[in-house]
Amino acid sequence: MTYRGRFAPSPTGPLHAGSLVAALASWLDARAHGGQWLVRIEDVDGPRCPPGMDALILGQLERLSLRPDEAPVWQSRRGEFYQAALDRLIAGGQAYGCACTRAEIAAAAGPRAKHGELVYPGTCREGTRGRPVRAWRLRVQGRIGWQDRRLSAQSQDLEAEVGDFVLKRADGLWAYQLAVVVDDAEQGITDVVRGEDLAENTPRQIALQRALGLPTPRYLHTPLVMAADGHKLSKQNGAAALDLGDPVARLREAAVRLGLHLHTSDPLAETVAQWQAATIPAFSNSSR
Ligand code: GLU
Repeated sequence: MTYRGRFAPSPTGPLHAGSLVAALASWLDARAHGGQWLVRIEDVDGPRCPPGMDALILGQLERLSLRPDEAPVWQSRRGEFYQAALDRLIAGGQAYGCACTRAEIAAAAGPRAKHGELVYPGTCREGTRGRPVRAWRLRVQGRIGWQDRRLSAQSQDLEAEVGDFVLKRADGLWAYQLAVVVDDAEQGITDVVRGEDLAENTPRQIALQRALGLPTPRYLHTPLVMAADGHKLSKQNGAAALDLGDPVARLREAAVRLGLHLHTSDPLAETVAQWQAATIPAFSNSSR
């Protein structure tokens, strides 16, 4: 199968040192496999995406010479794909309408909360008892595992740790989990390379792929860049936008985070060669 990878930024803020590591790794892995690399703007959560941030990110990637092989796509324009997937899940009895408010879930979930998220107690699994549907959820079961190319064997008890999760939110917005699964399949993505902070979403995405009869891509979760306070560098904790006055210097720093070192003035060609020689064997402990 032809390798197809992607970088899928949420345009809530500009690229920073942390997101550049994920962007570079996904680009490198695609290039090193002789594959294609796509960019998808994940703007399903419209209210969190300032106008123009998508163009700013695309401009940053261009400045870094990280050029996609196909025109970027915007999730905000792909609602029909998400609706079709939800309709299939509802028709198959795998998704159901939920009438619970957040306060009701918090009261019923009690101590069953992980990662600061409430575990949905399944209140509406057998119906809303006449109450209006607010959100749509996937019915989940048991434990899901995957072989990550960097983190090795991973697994999560989806039922106990997450519960039936939201596909379409009470405010009418599509959930990241549904959009990402539908798009990865629809775009023929074979390899997901993204930051380790997203690894805990992977079992939800695999569960959705299975429910929809879609293939599961290979996953490689890249090291996170930590801020001085020891937390993951993120837009939320005020990571500085990349200073792209010297794009080669920024690529060099991102490459070092991935265990690569650049010596020449052609950083991208050099990192592809290094990734091919060292990183792929080291990370490729999965078979497919
Ligand atoms: N849009 C997500 C983010 O920027 C990444 C999604 C993914 O790579 O699966 O955090």
